[in-house]
Amino acid sequence: MKPADVSISSASDDGFKASSVLSTLNEDGSRRWLTPRLSPGRFLHGRRIVAYLLIALFVTLPLVRLHGFPLVLLDIPARRFHIFGRTFYPTDTLLLAVLLVMVFLTIFWLTALFGRVWCGWACPQTVYMEFVFRPLERLFEGAPGRRAKGWLQTSGYGKILKLASYLLISFGLAHVFLAYFVSWDLLSQWVFGSPWKHPLGFFVVAFVTAAMMFNFGYFREQVCLVACPYGRFQSVMLDRHSIIVRYDRGRGEPRRGSTVALPILESGPKHGDCIDCHMCVTTCPTGIDIRNGLQMECIGCAQCIDACDAVMEKTHKPKGLIRYSSQAAMSGAKFKILRPRVVLYPAVLAALAGLFTIVLSGTSIADVTILRGPGQPFTALADGLVENNLRIKIINRTAAAADFTAEVQGVEGARIGDGSGKLRVDAGQIYAEPFPLFVPRGEIKHGKRDVFIIIRGPEQFERRIPFTALGPAGDHKQEEESEHKDGETREHERSDH
Ligand code: SF4
Ligand code: SF4
Repeated sequence: MKPADVSISSASDDGFKASSVLSTLNEDGSRRWLTPRLSPGRFLHGRRIVAYLLIALFVTLPLVRLHGFPLVLLDIPARRFHIFGRTFYPTDTLLLAVLLVMVFLTIFWLTALFGRVWCGWACPQTVYMEFVFRPLERLFEGAPGRRAKGWLQTSGYGKILKLASYLLISFGLAHVFLAYFVSWDLLSQWVFGSPWKHPLGFFVVAFVTAAMMFNFGYFREQVCLVACPYGRFQSVMLDRHSIIVRYDRGRGEPRRGSTVALPILESGPKHGDCIDCHMCVTTCPTGIDIRNGLQMECIGCAQCIDACDAVMEKTHKPKGLIRYSSQAAMSGAKFKILRPRVVLYPAVLAALAGLFTIVLSGTSIADVTILRGPGQPFTALADGLVENNLRIKIINRTAAAADFTAEVQGVEGARIGDGSGKLRVDAGQIYAEPFPLFVPRGEIKHGKRDVFIIIRGPEQFERRIPFTALGPAGDHKQEEESEHKDGETREHERSDH
């Protein structure tokens, strides 16, 4: 008896069927609508607890504030991300890239260890579908196999109530989802204000609500089957020792027909433990038969384990015909926890975490950038000064408004603006304004002069940024003398005439 293979397939061996290409296709190519049975058991119980904790976390993250900002706010229009009390700006691209790579590596690591544990236990699609929308469907339309029992289900009102509850929840979820991108303050204005005053906000809420209705009301498991790329990657992330949901072919085969009476089953030695009852198939949210081996559609939700355990209990067989196990363990080989990828991923993760911490600890209360302003490079003024246009950009990373000053060093008589150089930057805001820099013309040699712009702020913050002021290329004294001589010559010419 061969153990299940680690290779991923979408087709069974018994010839071509539309349903063997995609588990949600009928023979005629139409969609097979899935209404999976609920299979209570220890894994469903565990997943339910995890799901409700995750939903609570999802709602809480944009609401709770730390250091004056939400725990998570991805403020794309303002180009800043608030994540757990830290604010990331466009200048933090390296940090964000490292953070993203760390998230992906963690998922790869978890996949190498436990297969698609993310999909089955923590992905928002699974969490909301299986623990919010599907229970509502069962409540209003009846559980699969037991439909059309009560008045609610037979009257047709059940469907209406289901859709109404879907709409309400989608509407609420759309607001929570948007709270990750728009602050609660602004979102409250959108909610309580007239749609005509906030047409964009109204459109976004309506669009996200409609998208959620479409996803959880119609598209459902298709997200996992055809839209999400993660399932397609899993074959390269797994190995013989990855722990995934598996059917014990050696113990289960040959199958006994489900029509055979249980007492015969117990005494018949020629058959495996599988009674071919299809409970593992009818409970599967992606409609596959785990007995065909690991398939791309399997999201590792463990519903089939609970379903089969209940059957094994009734047939007085040991539980675990379908269980979390590895290919190696099922074929009788020794389970190896330490494998190259299982060691490599956390090693790289640790290195990236170190890099992240070092870069993060190097960030100060503000970022300062000084750029040359647009337009002509300089203007020579009548009072002997040369004006350059600067653009001073200060990012205040603190949760309080901060006062900064700007001054020029290195040139006698140079100044920025009116000389006061005071700049106030609000909490978490980016200040970017043009400023004139005045340098005495006599200080400019060969068309330029190097200066230092000093920006000072709270907590002894100081940045010394070099800047090259431009000016006329000629020697200032010679020009003055030649202008003086030109003036004298013109005087002589006038007196000769
Ligand atoms: S639930 Fe268990 S016994 Fe029933 S068909 Fe699936 S594997 Fe066989
Ligand atoms: S085969 Fe089992 S673990 Fe995989 S998706 Fe179906 S029910 Fe979940």
